[in-house]
Amino acid sequence: MNLQLVSPFKICPYKCPFCMAKGIEENSFSDDFYFQNKKEYLSKLVKIVEENDIKTIVFTGSTEPTLFPKWIEDCSEILKEKCPAVKREIQTRNYTYSNSDFDVVAFSIYQKLKTFPLINNVINRYVFIYNKELTIDDIINIRKNNKEVQLTVKILVSSSWNTSNVNEWIKENKKVFSSKEIEILKENNVRYDEDCSIATGRYIIYRCDGNIYNSWSEKKKN
Ligand code: SF4
Repeated sequence: MNLQLVSPFKICPYKCPFCMAKGIEENSFSDDFYFQNKKEYLSKLVKIVEENDIKTIVFTGSTEPTLFPKWIEDCSEILKEKCPAVKREIQTRNYTYSNSDFDVVAFSIYQKLKTFPLINNVINRYVFIYNKELTIDDIINIRKNNKEVQLTVKILVSSSWNTSNVNEWIKENKKVFSSKEIEILKENNVRYDEDCSIATGRYIIYRCDGNIYNSWSEKKKN
């Protein structure tokens, strides 16, 4: 089981057109337990890891998590001290990020890039959000030039918690793979994620309000 560790909230500067967090303000997930009571927030994090047999912690957010370096540092420090066996990943759209204190840095990519971010001494993962701007060749060519990076491709999915503009963009820009293309992805060691919103058996979520959720669509507690 993985834990999705959600950063405090702040409007994200990146404005990805498929961003599921655009509806966050309306859903009021912007109250930040970390800032209200850091000590309790961190001890609850450790308790969650211990009680749920968490193997990997994914630093993520309803915004860009690297906007909160002190939160990253505080969570990392306590995890390294109290739960040293747990792997730590971060999901980011910040291509200038260079923190090598993670096991995995996963860069989210939905447009063609001229140069790809690469951090030394960590596993670099490129997570492609597949849409009309990308082709399967864009992804396979990276594999040809770099055998070391991990490659994942995600299919866009409309969701009830998305704003109507986001769901409209997804409808217009979503691309799927044929079964032959899925085989090509497998042959090239590219992980294919058809619906990353399915949480059951994969992950639980420690949201910034200090509560645990079983899915991104679960209604706010309290
Ligand atoms: S980087 Fe993430 S949170 Fe920010 S706009 Fe893009 S998808 Fe949304």
